[in-house]
Amino acid sequence: PLDSLLQILDNNAVEAARSVPVLMPVALDQTYDYLVPEGMDAAPGAFVLVPFGPQTRIGIVWDAPRGEGKPVDPKKLKALTSRIDAPCLPEISMRFAEWVARYTLAPLGMVARMMMSADAAFEPPKHRFGVCIVEGATPPPKMTQARTRVMEIAADGLVRAKSDLANLAGCSTGVVDGLAAAGMLVEVAIPERSFPRPLPQHGETGFTADQTRAVESLRSAVDANNFSVTLLDGVTGSGKTEVYFEAVARALEAGGQTLILLPEIALTSQFLDRFARRFGARPVEWHSALSPAERGRIWKGVARGDVRCVVGARSALFLPYCELGLIVVDEEHDQGFKQDDRVHYQGRDMAVVRGNLGKFPVILASATPSIESHVNALIGRYRHAVLPGRFSGVEMPDVSAIDLRSEKLVPGKWLAERLVASMTETLEKGQQTLLFLNRRGYAPLTLCRSCGHRLECPQCTAWLVEHRFKKKLSCHHCGFQLSLPEKCPKCAAPGSLVACGPGVERVQEEVAERFPDARVALLSSDLIPGLPEMREMIRGIEAREFDIIIGTQIVAKGHNFPGLALVGVVDGDLGLAHGADPRSAERTFQLLHQVTGRAGRTTFVGRGFVQTYSPDHPVMTAIVAGDRNAFLNYEVKTRQAGLLPPYGRLAAIIVSARDKALTEQVAREIARRAPPSEMISVLGPSEAPIAVVRGRHRWRLLVKAPRDVDLQTYLRAWAGMIPKLKTDVRITVDIDPYNF
Ligand code: ADP
Ligand code: ZN
Repeated sequence: PLDSLLQILDNNAVEAARSVPVLMPVALDQTYDYLVPEGMDAAPGAFVLVPFGPQTRIGIVWDAPRGEGKPVDPKKLKALTSRIDAPCLPEISMRFAEWVARYTLAPLGMVARMMMSADAAFEPPKHRFGVCIVEGATPPPKMTQARTRVMEIAADGLVRAKSDLANLAGCSTGVVDGLAAAGMLVEVAIPERSFPRPLPQHGETGFTADQTRAVESLRSAVDANNFSVTLLDGVTGSGKTEVYFEAVARALEAGGQTLILLPEIALTSQFLDRFARRFGARPVEWHSALSPAERGRIWKGVARGDVRCVVGARSALFLPYCELGLIVVDEEHDQGFKQDDRVHYQGRDMAVVRGNLGKFPVILASATPSIESHVNALIGRYRHAVLPGRFSGVEMPDVSAIDLRSEKLVPGKWLAERLVASMTETLEKGQQTLLFLNRRGYAPLTLCRSCGHRLECPQCTAWLVEHRFKKKLSCHHCGFQLSLPEKCPKCAAPGSLVACGPGVERVQEEVAERFPDARVALLSSDLIPGLPEMREMIRGIEAREFDIIIGTQIVAKGHNFPGLALVGVVDGDLGLAHGADPRSAERTFQLLHQVTGRAGRTTFVGRGFVQTYSPDHPVMTAIVAGDRNAFLNYEVKTRQAGLLPPYGRLAAIIVSARDKALTEQVAREIARRAPPSEMISVLGPSEAPIAVVRGRHRWRLLVKAPRDVDLQTYLRAWAGMIPKLKTDVRITVDIDPYNF
């Protein structure tokens, strides 16, 4: 009777065969149902292999079906192939993914894909094997000197790779093999490297009164154990990092994981060392330069809670934290937090969303807060912690404008005499100068003197930029490259091509001419192969191995150069040129403030010069007066008047295709189908400022709405009016666009 009872239960189990919704990491916004084979644990969040079209792919068991796929006859459902041996995606990550997808209008599958950006985490773990000593084994009759050395090292009981052990003993691996064969050593799996634990109480710092107040404010935010956003607003060198480290310590103590987001560029060893000094262990780094194996190890470590603190670029937000308790976004104004491909998201804003979902505090730190955060602090939506002065007590640098309309440059030269004189003085004092120009290469334009032809990219609406070190002309939009031609490609006049305008390489040429004995460092992303080399250069600058530093925006951020006394901005107007971009003034102000703020941070007052043709622009007057609030007030008024962010919402719709006429036609058709609305206005369509990129023509529509209008719902309704296009046309929606 028991047998038949079991039989009945079994049959029931078959009949009630369970199916689960599975989300695939592809550009689809729906889940698919799969049968769960008997005995398989397919809990929500589990990673599973499933038959998907002709392939077998990894998907995530979701906790609720999504999308409106046709109902499938349960008998036709396919079954999960297998469960993958990886930690589950935490439930909060699912809610976060759904939130991001809804806000950015990206398919949920694409957001899930960002959360799975560590392929190795889903592969079978690769065990490495090593050997360790067998306690109490009787030694073999033949103990050579080499064998004795190996056994002496192995006596500590650690598991080591055979090659490591042989290297340590200075013998061949054959000796190790021999001992293993004799039963003296045993082969075992090498345990996975564990993650260092940051210790909240490792460091001790004497805080100023201002710092103490800010620390108290942040600690109380952590202690409240609830969602809040604090803008940590303090001039460069005011000690913001030191202050938010205290919040990190508090959150670690309370048992939470912590995340510090930095613009990728600021992920220097300087920062990591500093973290290590404060917490006794280096944090886990997350950025694009990690090896696949490291990514996998960290992904799992975060999901299991073994990783307690991550310092990373924006993508670190999408790791599977199980106990996240604090996010700090440092340099929160930085545009590097905005991602502009696939899922278009603003990392700083999504960090706030994540804090809200996880009911924990978020700290946004900056010396030049974004207008959005500034306004939020102003109206009390965010808490505001202010550090008004530098920790060192040193005054902010004395900045002057050099009006290039009256102080004319010598033709072919890019540094005004007043700046050169100040550089000479600085050199004589043994101090450092930084020349900043946010333009890579030698010259932004090459022109034929004879026929006027300009060398343009064949695939983009852009001039080719000369890179003299590489002897190439290159397009900064698509990477197209051409060897520097000897004659004009149009009229064939020999030697008629001239370089127009400066890039950093050309500034370096002038510096070498004027200061032949100075030690010069040129920092430009195209001249530095990778993060390690970049870190090495930054270290060299800190150690005063250079007198003059010439750089693009990679020098503007996050560094502390103690010997730097003078900053010269070669072209202060560069960022103001983008008329269509509502953030161009903000961005220029931030960049100029940050870069001039590099001068004189610890022991002496720095000096700054900004070369400009528009010294009366509110950005320039505020920079020269050192009056940040003057700029903020001006910019807040401008945004308010124009209903621009944060007083209004913006979205861009970009239509692109290889065919020019088709691009325009589709853009116009989309515009025609815009649902009528009293609150929402649609501007355009018009050709994008850079009309062609990589051979694709681009038209854009700008959608503007007051702050309290749900732009996403409107856009979704609009998308429903647009028939599926089978052509090469691509339509991208960018909520809150940053690139114009
Ligand atoms: P910010 O992040 O605002 O630019 P930092 O935190 O980098 O400022 O501080 C600037 C400098 O002052 C750093 O060299 C830092 O080590 C030092 N500093 C700041 N606060 C303290 C403190 N309480 N005790 C010791 N040094 C400090
Ligand atoms: Zn190009």
